[in-house]
Amino acid sequence: MSRKKPTQRDLDLLAMSSIASQLPVRFENKTAWHVFAGECRGCKQTIPDEHLRGAVTRTAQWCFTIEASGYCPECRSITRFLLRLHADLTASGPMNGLWQTWKPKRKAGFAWLLRFLKLTR
Ligand SMILES: [Zn+2]
Repeated sequence: MSRKKPTQRDLDLLAMSSIASQLPVRFENKTAWHVFAGECRGCKQTIPDEHLRGAVTRTAQWCFTIEASGYCPECRSITRFLLRLHADLTASGPMNGLWQTWKPKRKAGFAWLLRFLKLTR
């Protein structure tokens, strides 16, 4: 399997600030997202914060969009993330060509997000 070359968009995203430095994002209803953890699709390791970079933009009053590219130092592959964070603490994003929504089982835990990111590309 050949390694995919990064696209220009990946390079642009990797030149931005780390996602961790742009969190937490807060909503008017007092909810907030504190953690964003991305998993490498090559080797399944969590991508270190300093290598997970991109843009966190407020796209609506109740929604932030994260577009990020993560460089994995373990296997040297790049994983792209695109998802929306909502004020009700659900997340949505494309998976298998469809836009889907995920709800956390417990507000306290973010393991579900890791699980979700494993499925995205
Ligand atoms: Zn990797």
